[in-house]
Amino acid sequence: MRKIIKPEVAYWGNKEWLSIMKNILCARVCQGKAIPKLQLSLEQEYPDSQVILLNSARAGLVLSLQVFQRYKPEKREVLIPEFICDSVPSTIKDCGLIPVYVPVKADLNLDVALLDHFCNYNTLAVILPHMYAKPADIIQAEAIVKAKGVYLIDDAAQVAGIKLNGKALGSFGDVGILSFAQAKTIVTGVRASGGVLFINNKRLMPALSVMEKNLPESAGRVAALGHFLLAYKWQGFAKALDYYWQRLRVKFTGKAIGNFYFPVTRISNLDADIALAQFESLPTRIALSKRLIKHYQKKMKHVKDYSLVQCDTDDLYLTRLIIQSKKMVPEKLAAQLQQGGIITKFVYGSGSKAFDGSVTSGLLELPLQNLSFQQLDRVINTLKYHSQKES
Ligand SMILES: *Cc1c(COP(=O)(O)O)cnc(C)c1O
Repeated sequence: MRKIIKPEVAYWGNKEWLSIMKNILCARVCQGKAIPKLQLSLEQEYPDSQVILLNSARAGLVLSLQVFQRYKPEKREVLIPEFICDSVPSTIKDCGLIPVYVPVKADLNLDVALLDHFCNYNTLAVILPHMYAKPADIIQAEAIVKAKGVYLIDDAAQVAGIKLNGKALGSFGDVGILSFAQAKTIVTGVRASGGVLFINNKRLMPALSVMEKNLPESAGRVAALGHFLLAYKWQGFAKALDYYWQRLRVKFTGKAIGNFYFPVTRISNLDADIALAQFESLPTRIALSKRLIKHYQKKMKHVKDYSLVQCDTDDLYLTRLIIQSKKMVPEKLAAQLQQGGIITKFVYGSGSKAFDGSVTSGLLELPLQNLSFQQLDRVINTLKYHSQKES
């Protein structure tokens, strides 16, 4: 039987597995040397920022939105792109603020040219993510937002270790964030498996440093890692097993999905150690992804009815590859690819509805990370086959 090809949520080597065994066996899940080591290495990579290690990216959003509110209590709206994972608008609401959606461009990043129009008296902040690691126009956004007296969050959750004009993403704007959750650049697990807050505006440092001092230690990381391995990394039978285990857990502990992210805590030593291994392998992983994307671009150029919406430049790195299917409904395309042993994923919100001429329709995520070139050809040939059959 042919091997199933699916989008991977983490690309781990031996070091990641070793970190897990070592830290669990030596009872160094919460505290240990990996935390200061990660702190130091990020301080070197992001020299103009103050680095705060947290249990998630949304923890960084919570802390910074709280501080912004303290300085500008009369402003209650936060601008975000219309295409984004739900954790961002729900975190904004958790902070008692109102998310306002701004349209995105064809590459799925916020259309920065619209910020001038969207920022008004009520706007507290703009959260600008770099979707699937494709850099947004953050330099242009900085200029617009500054003139309006609005805070800017450089949401580099999906894009650790990537630079724009020589400056690391995450270090633009007033604050920046990184996430170490599944399907990001650096993956240590799920359910608050780590994140970073970069304070780039010096005036915010005193208030945020006080908040950092009062943070509790991480908790529940071994259970969360178990869930990540079963439900995300291994899937299949393990996923079914995890499903029943989670139901039991909810029944006995009363912990629903949403509150795995509260309270905001420090990062665990276990997650920090896995993150260190992930940072070490990042250059190799970026180089491989770039080669795979280049191959996709070359082979898909002449295939009708599909476009690789994010791929408008060469030498591009992405964590996830999105295709826009203009004729076939994504649901049908996904079913046909699945028959060929290729698993795809629907995108955020209603982006996987039938193509209606808008940039956020007709979208489907194709496998990318960890693929061999042979597997990639199989994906492309299957797409081509169905495109010809339709026309
Ligand atoms: C995943 C993600 C977040 C949240 O990350 P967590 O670490 O899960 O809190 C925030 N912003 C963007 C753009 C993301 O993709």
